[in-house]
Amino acid sequence: MKNNKSCPECNSNLEKVYVSIQGAKNKALSYQCPKCDYFGFEQDSSKKIIKELQDTALKMRQKIVKLSQDRLGMYINKDVARSLNLKGGEEISVSLPDKNHILIEIG
Ligand SMILES: [Zn+2]
Repeated sequence: MKNNKSCPECNSNLEKVYVSIQGAKNKALSYQCPKCDYFGFEQDSSKKIIKELQDTALKMRQKIVKLSQDRLGMYINKDVARSLNLKGGEEISVSLPDKNHILIEIG
């Protein structure tokens, strides 16, 4: 892997940051831009994490619901809320490691 990867938004050198993902033993390698808000996961690393989570995690099927003004939503059911200790009002970070996954990080 090359050491210097540049930001697709502003061309600055990206910093490599290992992030821990809830439920995964491996840390995911991410690239973060010190200048703008760009954040991306290194592909092999995110694939490994997704595989690991698929093997171990609680999995359920849900529908995306339509909200007003082209926005979409997803309910967090009570089992998920309980296992993550969510009460409502928490801040979450949403990232998209690839085109089939949404990663939601609490806090
Ligand atoms: Zn940037």
